[in-house]
Amino acid sequence: MTLEELHSECRQCEQCRLRAEATQVVPGEGSPDADVMFIGEGPGAVEDKLGRPFVGPAGKFLDVLLKSIDLVREDVFIANMVKCRPPGNRDPQDDEMEACSGWLDQQIDIIKPKIFVPLGRYAMRKFLPSAVISREHGNIYEHSRKVFFVMYHPAVALYKGSMRTVLLEDFSNLKKFLEGELVPTMVDDTVSTIIAEKEKMKVSASEVRKKEDAHKAQVGMNI
Ligand code: URA
Repeated sequence: MTLEELHSECRQCEQCRLRAEATQVVPGEGSPDADVMFIGEGPGAVEDKLGRPFVGPAGKFLDVLLKSIDLVREDVFIANMVKCRPPGNRDPQDDEMEACSGWLDQQIDIIKPKIFVPLGRYAMRKFLPSAVISREHGNIYEHSRKVFFVMYHPAVALYKGSMRTVLLEDFSNLKKFLEGELVPTMVDDTVSTIIAEKEKMKVSASEVRKKEDAHKAQVGMNI
């Protein structure tokens, strides 16, 4: 199935209560070959009106972030956990996310991005339940054979102007990963291991190779 076909089906979805109050379904948009997949929480008022993800104020800042690393929306894929706007921008409920999860899973299967960027606590909880954003932001992790870039939701910069710089600085690590200069830190399922006892990010690929070589020499392994 193509992404277009999937989205046509998705637009007919009435699997949960959100559809009744939404203007339209907002499946997501971007390149089917995207290396980077952003996953937000759910459409807001502007997205609901226009049928496109992240086109309101938070989306405008996402555009700025993309531009800062020489990307445009057409290069990436932008989706949400729930494809219909929760009324009054309330949080999506567990059963709504559950009902919608098949669409996201199919998008992921088709796009197969190199890196996921969960935006907001619901997307973060799905993929990296143990991550603490204030500690992990800006880092890149590999978990269950998927790679994740941890970042604050772009909307935080709208509430707190000083966060713009933090987000812009963090975002430069995404570029470094895409250019092969930064390798993900492997983390496992437990809450504590994500907390970076393991190698913290901001380590260049060559530094990691040096460390690996030193380790191999030390233990006499021939990997
Ligand atoms: N916030 C989100 O999480 N998703 C959108 O599409 C817009 C704002």
